[in-house]
Amino acid sequence: MKRVYNFSAGPSMLPLAVLEKAQAELPDYRNSGMSVMELSHRSGLFTEIIEEAEQLLREIMNIPENYKVLFVQGGASQQFAMVPLNIMKNGKADYVNTGSWSKKAMKEAKKYGQVNVIASSEDENFTFIPKIDQSMIDKEADYVHITTNNTIEGTSFREIPDTGSVPLVADMSSNILSEDIDVSKFGIIYAGAQKNIGPAGLTVVIIREDLIGNAKDICPTMLDYKTHSDSGSLYNTPPTYGIYMAKLVFEWIKELGGIKAIQKQNEEKAALLYDFIDQSDFYSSPVREDSRSIMNIPFTIPGYDLDAQFVKEAKEKGLETLKGHRSVGGMRASIYNAMPVDGVKALVQFMKEFEESNK
Ligand code: PMP
Repeated sequence: MKRVYNFSAGPSMLPLAVLEKAQAELPDYRNSGMSVMELSHRSGLFTEIIEEAEQLLREIMNIPENYKVLFVQGGASQQFAMVPLNIMKNGKADYVNTGSWSKKAMKEAKKYGQVNVIASSEDENFTFIPKIDQSMIDKEADYVHITTNNTIEGTSFREIPDTGSVPLVADMSSNILSEDIDVSKFGIIYAGAQKNIGPAGLTVVIIREDLIGNAKDICPTMLDYKTHSDSGSLYNTPPTYGIYMAKLVFEWIKELGGIKAIQKQNEEKAALLYDFIDQSDFYSSPVREDSRSIMNIPFTIPGYDLDAQFVKEAKEKGLETLKGHRSVGGMRASIYNAMPVDGVKALVQFMKEFEESNK
């Protein structure tokens, strides 16, 4: 078996221990004579899986009692519509524009009401996170929307804004479970699974109970949070295998010592890479230091035309998917929870060698 260090922005690496557990349980799950993929979503065995997945997520994220956990489909992109369809009662919301995904969220919300951009870093190529204070927020807004980690641009909110009585809604797709956050500061947290949770196809929504049950009349049944909340995410067939894999990932996080332990590891991994980039006069980070993501780290080689060669040679060394997003250029290393420290060390070592032979 050959495993590579996969620096993809998503779908991305899953912990090997999780893949091996899934492999061992694949053909005959707990003496059922079936795989999880073949189990009815109404069966006792699957009920245990979905309940345990929720329980584990509540435990590792310390989710308060007055929040519901929903397992839905449609990706984070579907949440761009579900949020306004469900909670835009007064018809207006505040958005912080920090990158391509924020823009897509705003584009969708505009179909249902007024979108006010209260802060943006677009003028500076999204290389930083603007400061938000309460005076910027419309007290009548139905919610404030942020993208906590900007997967493409490599920026991240180092501090969660205080939005007072206006609910804070966060697209946490690329940094959920990577660091300790206080869920009670948010009205809604949503995330596509394919980075830190499990395989693509599952979307996790964590929503404060009072925000459920206010959907617009035009809201399709499947897009109403109440539908999923009332049925324990079993209104229709949920992505059963994805939920099972997420449960295994949550167990893995718990066994490693929980989110605080993962956060420490993530900070160490990111520091290895940033420290190396910062001391180098060959590589450069486009992101302002106070806004840097510890999950997605773009870097460039200014003044040289070496990006394609870097990506190609890295791949030959088992360091995969390092090509930067076309809007930023250069390279991007996504180092989610499942990327081992050794993967980052191997990348830094390769970067050193590449610099020496090309400078
Ligand atoms: N938001 C962010 C921050 C993302 O990184 C992504 C996907 N990479 C999306 C939204 C879109 O997610 P999905 O593909 O699950 O719709």
